Amino acid sequence: MLANFSLQSALDEQRQKDLYRQLTPIRHGVTPTIDIDGKTYVNFASNDYLGLATDPQLVQAFSQAAKTIHQVGSGASHLITGHTLWHEQLDTTLAQVTGYERALTFSTGYMANVGVIQALCGKDSVIFSDKLNHASIVDGAILSRAKVMRFGHRNYSQLEQLLSQSSAKQKLIVTDHIFSMDGTIADLDALHALATRYECALMVDDAHGFGLPYQAYKKAQPQADIYIGTFGKAIGTSGAFVAGSSELIDYVTNFSRSFIYTTAMPPVLASVTKTSIAMSHTDTLRSDQLLANIKQLSQGLLQQNWQVGIDNQIPTTAIIPVVIGNNDRTLQLANALKSRGFWVSAIRPPTVPVGTARLRFCVSARHSEQQISDLLAVMQTLK
Ligand code: PMP
Repeated sequence: MLANFSLQSALDEQRQKDLYRQLTPIRHGVTPTIDIDGKTYVNFASNDYLGLATDPQLVQAFSQAAKTIHQVGSGASHLITGHTLWHEQLDTTLAQVTGYERALTFSTGYMANVGVIQALCGKDSVIFSDKLNHASIVDGAILSRAKVMRFGHRNYSQLEQLLSQSSAKQKLIVTDHIFSMDGTIADLDALHALATRYECALMVDDAHGFGLPYQAYKKAQPQADIYIGTFGKAIGTSGAFVAGSSELIDYVTNFSRSFIYTTAMPPVLASVTKTSIAMSHTDTLRSDQLLANIKQLSQGLLQQNWQVGIDNQIPTTAIIPVVIGNNDRTLQLANALKSRGFWVSAIRPPTVPVGTARLRFCVSARHSEQQISDLLAVMQTLK
């Protein structure tokens, strides 16, 4: 019991609203299958979009790196003695693949978003943020003490109105590229044009795009001034980075608290991440398969008349939401899918707006055509 902290009543309230969450220990696997409590499920809940997390070549690279580097923890934060040759090589590779002047690795995407926004913005800045941006962007904005102006999801005419009314000197537009609960895509051309017209900086979080055919950067001409990519999804490892001008990276190195005051990621992880980036950027077989799988599942769901996505747009990314609305019904459907051998997330408020609870299917290149048609057959029975 913590005096005056009413933890139990808050938990009870979560239960009443069908929002109570618990951890599920997973024995093995990411995609296409996972083992839980001795049972195997086809996993449609993971961000391992290319199936690299369990790729034999990558697992081999991991154990080889462990033998060569012979060091588990980095032992310190980057600016003390934690920044090893492998971190430096990873940063160089990231600058090369993205086409930015420099890049800097963080331990997680959450920390990258929080740390970059906190470093750049202060109480005299204004942050223009898409209403569906990831929690780490929201938290970074709160931590920065800047004024935050939210615009409707991909509502760029509303954004323009807000920009035209703002007299702030320091303005930052920030957006997810692929929205994590909706699978929708930000219009970076429109945002780039607005950023130029209203003299704002543009920051794009490409957590769900980096390493995939629809990633946000165009190497020759970066649209975003500040690019965030993560490794825990298509890259199949863990960690994240910010890419931008040399000046930006120098600034973040000096002022970003979640970069400065934390232990650097293990050097083996930096090394294997570099290998994985090379694999994801050179071998198109996996990404071609991913695109085919996205098409098979999204078209199948649309044919069955599920509400796919908020605005019934045909999904083109690996995140395919089926909006149910009611929390209870969403949980029932997720449980029915589980009992038939499919692991799918029931996403509920506060992660998504009230009344838009959904099943969120994440497709991987490792799913077979059969696994997807089996899933569709089960979905048909649940209609
Ligand atoms: N941004 C977005 C859009 C995300 O979906 C996530 C992960 N859910 C993150 C940032 C955080 O990345 P990480 O898991 O590496 O902390």
